[in-house]
Amino acid sequence: MKITRPSYFDSFSCIASACPDSCCQEWDVQVDADSAEYYRALPGQLGDDLRRLLKDEDGETVMTIVNRRCPMWRQDGLCRIQAELGEPALCKTCREFPRLTHDYGDFMERGLELSCPEAAGIILSAPMAPPIIESIPGGEAEYDEEAMEVLLRTRENVLSILADERRPVNESLALALLYGYQAQAELDGEEALPFDADSALESIREFVKLPEITELPSFFAELEILTVSWPERLKAPSPAPWDHRFRNLARYFVERYWLQAVSDYDLYCRVKYCIASCILIRQLGGDLLTTAQQYSKEIENNTDNVEAILDGAYAHPAFTDDKLLGLLLQA
Ligand code: SF4
Repeated sequence: MKITRPSYFDSFSCIASACPDSCCQEWDVQVDADSAEYYRALPGQLGDDLRRLLKDEDGETVMTIVNRRCPMWRQDGLCRIQAELGEPALCKTCREFPRLTHDYGDFMERGLELSCPEAAGIILSAPMAPPIIESIPGGEAEYDEEAMEVLLRTRENVLSILADERRPVNESLALALLYGYQAQAELDGEEALPFDADSALESIREFVKLPEITELPSFFAELEILTVSWPERLKAPSPAPWDHRFRNLARYFVERYWLQAVSDYDLYCRVKYCIASCILIRQLGGDLLTTAQQYSKEIENNTDNVEAILDGAYAHPAFTDDKLLGLLLQA
């Protein structure tokens, strides 16, 4: 099995009590079955507290938050389970976060989550560099190999488009969106053709349309909300200038979501999801790292929200190509 991780992956280290927005607040923590069994069998006060706090819901065990905080999160910013029992006692969710794993059977891709502020800083500032690849024995492909070949190849192409600093960053994002059409056609069985970036841009200049600035934020305001400040931010967009870190942001979304189209052959809605995420983060303005991290916390860890955006990419008027391109090229 081939295991790939971004060049910046190993530079992450949790900053714990110095974290400006801990993962120990706002989220219920899903506790894996082995950890839940271990916690419920613990003696003493910690065991009593865990038995009281762990809840079984829909076949899963969760540690529910109290007053918007994980009840195991101490005033000094440290985790009580880790402090009393050591890091190996943490459940899988807490041990792994913010590390992500996508396992395709014969290869595995690792990454960091944007919803962790420390990881977000690394993601947004990391130089474009080839990933680190390791091999271990075993593993069998668990996917449509023909489709995966197209997805891997087209993802390389779109990452090259995003990395091309000869163009302004917003134009690179528009090209990534336009290339998404071509990549979807290849996934549908059409011949692989060279992508002519200049012609692609030229062909849509007349067609783009600048929508109301509130249209895309209003769509996001209808999704499930996690943090108190998010609805206020969506109500008052204040676009920031495009800056070079949007290349890193788009690369993050592409690396995370592009290959997932192997599950349903629906690439273009994911391309729109990746690019619309960058557009919304830019529209909301403020400090890019903080806005991107909050976006990820609100959206990426909520499957219902992600699904709603993937559906919206096809059906909702805020996601039409002319408007997304207008927001990229004219705003
Ligand atoms: S959000 Fe990231 S840096 Fe902050 S406490 Fe969690 S893992 Fe550590």
